[in-house]
This record gives sequence, structure tokens and C-alpha cells, in this order.
Amino acid sequence: MEDAGRPKDDGFRALVCVDGASTGIELRSPLEPGPGEALVSLRVCGLCGTDIFKLEAASQPPGTVLGHEVVGMVERCGAGVEGFSPGDRVVVAHHVPCGECAYCLAGSETMCEEFRENRLSPGGFSEKIIVAEAAVRSAMRAIPDSLSDDTAVFLEPAACVLRGIWRSGIKPGGASVILGGGSMGLLHLLVLKAAIPDALVGVVEPLEERRELALSLGADFSRAPETASDAVAELTGGLGADAIFDTAGGSGALLACLELGRRGSTVVLFAHAGAGEQAGFELDRLFKEERRLVASYSGGVKEQDAAWELMLSGALDPAALVSARVGLEDFGQALELVRDRRALKVLIEP
Ligand SMILES: [Zn+2]
Ligand SMILES: [Zn+2]
Repeated sequence: MEDAGRPKDDGFRALVCVDGASTGIELRSPLEPGPGEALVSLRVCGLCGTDIFKLEAASQPPGTVLGHEVVGMVERCGAGVEGFSPGDRVVVAHHVPCGECAYCLAGSETMCEEFRENRLSPGGFSEKIIVAEAAVRSAMRAIPDSLSDDTAVFLEPAACVLRGIWRSGIKPGGASVILGGGSMGLLHLLVLKAAIPDALVGVVEPLEERRELALSLGADFSRAPETASDAVAELTGGLGADAIFDTAGGSGALLACLELGRRGSTVVLFAHAGAGEQAGFELDRLFKEERRLVASYSGGVKEQDAAWELMLSGALDPAALVSARVGLEDFGQALELVRDRRALKVLIEP
């Protein structure tokens, strides 16, 4: 029997921003891939903190389809596409740097003007998408049978995390602390353990359930914020951490991160702060203690390649972070689960 309200042709359903934080399901007309493009039907799309941030900021024009952590199945390829055929299971990222501008050449690929463009149309919270030519060429990968959807869907966020780890300058055997044991915090833990030989990693998180999960995923300690400095001192022989990753965001979290580092350490900002929020800390401490404050925004093709290698080799498998899956029509439920901190990664199944 046919679904009521379902288009009879090749049309598809998409979850659109209606106004501000509200969303609705819209029926869209069929898509046809142009030259170099691919038509992909979605299997899962991860709900990312950025999606929630955009909805809360009411920054998206009506009709926008969010979602960018995409695993799907190739339905049709446009003329000239090489390396993919209908039926391939694929993971694809939404941003691709140009590789040639001043930003790209300087290593700031995520600041490239072209990088801002969304190469997935309309967006991942949709039954179908067109993957633009640039993304088909450099940001789409066929998933081998050995990797599940739940693992592959973490490629884009893992690439973002890896960029921050690289920017931290952390060395083999270095001690890291992650502020926040949510989905991104725990993904930091897994990527650090996979990418940095002999990494020591502590997680600071108020919720006991998440602290326990951090330990089971290999954290060297996991503590509530109140006892975090003791744990860091224990882990580092009193020195302090080499790198601290802020996945919580805001000035309070930044101050806490600065307290956990040794002299000469690096704090990596990896989360949105409140709109217009200012930070307050003693500038001379930054100078005299040679501390570095670096920000890391999104991830480029280099990071995707490296994260993909870690997944293919089996060193990185974040599938355990998936704690709920909902259909497009239950998107509101997904938002509530994440906002109430009852779920880590939620997958939307169009
Ligand atoms: Zn994301
Ligand atoms: Zn560029």
C-alpha cells in the first residue's frame, strides 16, 4: 500500500526549517543529477550540534534543509562520474575547499570561500540528495562491507575533531584533557586514542553515566569538573595537560581549560559560545606562561582522508556513540533527546 501524502513519482520528503526553531516535512519534486553529480538516497544522517545551534539561532531561511553527516546509496550518476555506480553505499561530506586560494595554500582550508558552500542539495535530513560535482570528486567515499553505517556516519565529525587535534600540536605520549563527555567530547577521546600513539586522555564531564562510558571507551580518567585538576595532576605528575579540548563552549569552559594545562600548553576551542559572549582571563598569564589558544573550525579533505584511513584500519570505530535513531517525522524527539542530554549521537533515518 502506498503511503498517504507520498509523491507518486520519484519525489521525496525533506525536513525543512519553517520559521526559527520549528521544522516541518515538505514534499519535493524529483531530482536529476547533472554532469559530475550523483543522486543519493539517504540511509542515515547524524544530528550535529551545529544543526541544533542553527535552529536555535533561527538563522536559516524557511525551506532550508539541514543535516550534513550523510550515509546513503547511490541511485544515479550524472555524465562523467567515475568510480561510483548505482547501488554503492557511500559517505559524503558537505564542504570541499578549492585547494588553490590564499587560505587553502596557507593551510586554512576551512576558511576558503568555496568551503562555505554546501555541496549537498537540499541537505541530509531528506530522503534524497544531489551531491555536487566537487564533493563527488573529493569528499564521497564508497563504504566497504566491513564498515557499518553507524561507523561511517562519523567521518565528517571525526575529520573536524582530527583537525583540532592536529592544530593542538599534541605529540606521541602527550596528555590531553577533553572538557565535555557528550558526543563530540567522546569522539575526541576515540580519535585521540586512534591517531596519537600512546596518547593519555582524560575526560571532564558532570554526568556520571557519561563518565562511565568514557572509561569504557578507554579514557585514562574521567572526572566531574570539581575534581578534574586533581586527576590531571595525577596523570601528568603534577605538570598539567599538554592540550585541552573544549567541546563545551563558552567563557566558563575556556577558563576551566586554561586551568588544566601546563605552562606552554594549548587550549583548542571546538564549540560554539553564546552569541556575542566575551571571554575574561588574565592576559599576562597567557604571555608569561607561553600558552596557546587555537580554534578549530570544521575539517577539510585532508582530515577526511586521514579519518577515513583510521576507520578503514579499524583503529577508529565511533559506532558505540550512537544512542538513538528516529525517522524524519520524529525530528522533534531527536532534538529533545540531545537538548536534555539523554542521548549522545542521534541518527535521523530518512
Ligand atoms: Zn557535524
Ligand atoms: Zn580555497
